[in-house]
Amino acid sequence: MGAAIAWQLALRLDPHDEPVVLLEKQELAAGSSGRSGAILRQQYSDRVLAAMARDSLRVYTGFERATGRYIGFVRMGVLTLAGPVQREEQELLRRNVAMQQELGIEVELLDAEGIQRVSPGIAVREGTLAAFEPSGGGVDPLRCVEAFAALARENGAATRVGVRVESIAIENGRVRGVQTDDGFIEAEEVVVAAGAWSRALLERAGIALPLRAVRPEQYFKQMLEGPITPEDLRARDEVEARFAWTKPQLPTPSHPVLLDLESNFYTRCQPHEGRTRVGRMDYSEDAEIADPDMLDENVSEKYVEWARERLEERIPAYRAKKDAGTAVGLYTLTPDAQALIGPRREAAGLWVVAGFSGHGFKLAPSVGEGVAQMVCGQPVSAFDPEFFDPHRFDGKSGAAWGRAFGL
Ligand SMILES: Cc1cc2nc3c(=O)[nH]c(=O)nc-3n(C[C@H](O)[C@H](O)[C@H](O)COP(=O)(O)OP(=O)(O)OC[C@H]3O[C@@H](n4cnc5c(N)ncnc54)[C@H](O)[C@@H]3O)c2cc1C
Repeated sequence: MGAAIAWQLALRLDPHDEPVVLLEKQELAAGSSGRSGAILRQQYSDRVLAAMARDSLRVYTGFERATGRYIGFVRMGVLTLAGPVQREEQELLRRNVAMQQELGIEVELLDAEGIQRVSPGIAVREGTLAAFEPSGGGVDPLRCVEAFAALARENGAATRVGVRVESIAIENGRVRGVQTDDGFIEAEEVVVAAGAWSRALLERAGIALPLRAVRPEQYFKQMLEGPITPEDLRARDEVEARFAWTKPQLPTPSHPVLLDLESNFYTRCQPHEGRTRVGRMDYSEDAEIADPDMLDENVSEKYVEWARERLEERIPAYRAKKDAGTAVGLYTLTPDAQALIGPRREAAGLWVVAGFSGHGFKLAPSVGEGVAQMVCGQPVSAFDPEFFDPHRFDGKSGAAWGRAFGL
């Protein structure tokens, strides 16, 4: 988010009069972003989110062509599937698809036969329903954050990696800048997009935010390779011809991204790593983290077995593939699983952009644009600022916490 915002701010501000500085304490994408599945889906039930996902997907899709920078974009389709007895989930998918089609999103409902047609390797029972977005896919999150930061620099921003913000200086109700471990930086506007670290940083400035960090476990198998459709192959060839000098030869995914509401998992091929990721659709069982700098990287055998079983049951060809590692992630949650984005009333010039609750990567282009519009005092067209109001939980300390990222 920080890199996307810095890029969009740099496009709008004069580097001499109003320089933009991106501060990163460790390395680019050191937090949630570098651990992300970076799936680009438009399957949401909120219009605001669906529209952002649509607009951001357009940016990701055209990014390599428009900027000449590689982000590992792969269009492989996204299939969100509800089982035969999941009446509520099926109803949700029907409503979502109708709303998304109104927004101009390319998405259709498929029955079991339709799912087989799109992806013959996916085992489904009669009565299964899915929403299919042929234009969805994923990116390589590391290369993507690096590309956003490079564009920020190209447009006049400075990126200072290895510089930690220790505190935010606030005087007479206005920010003055930030104290870092490499000196004080004066600033009229400070955007806190520090992921799981945002809560502690803002607490030190006397601002309490309803943010919790959890640690989702991830499991990987060797990727199942193979073309999806002739059309996908053609699109791939075009990109490869244009970026042959930067783009490594990537294997082709053999199935769409799958969000499986019946078995409560998601999976995506990650051609940039040659492996397939499996994660849980909810975070009710993820351990809470007190200090994101002390992340326990161990993944339980119980999770590995659960994930392997889910994947092999749904896509049986994976039985022939080997385990390909595990990882842990970092989600920064809010009670309603939507981010806090906007100005904080405690100090003029202070902005918060945090709490993406496990589904922010796909939205980053829209978030970057909308936050830059806000900070520059421009009309906000990238999203509805009210939806993300960072004060919406004020006085609601007993707010119930959700268990899953919204669909
Ligand atoms: C396993 C996993 C799978 C996911 N899958 C998807 C998906 O498929 N699709 C999707 O859309 N989203 C997905 N997400 C969510 C998405 O990755 C996050 O919402 C997004 O990366 C959040 O970005 P961020 O910039 O807010 O936080 P981060 O990426 O955590 O960035 C915050 C940065 O701030 C730096 N920082 C912190 N404190 C300081 C300080 N004091 N000074 C300087 N720098 C500091 C950190 O080092 C870090 O690099 C997934 C997340 C995980 C963990």
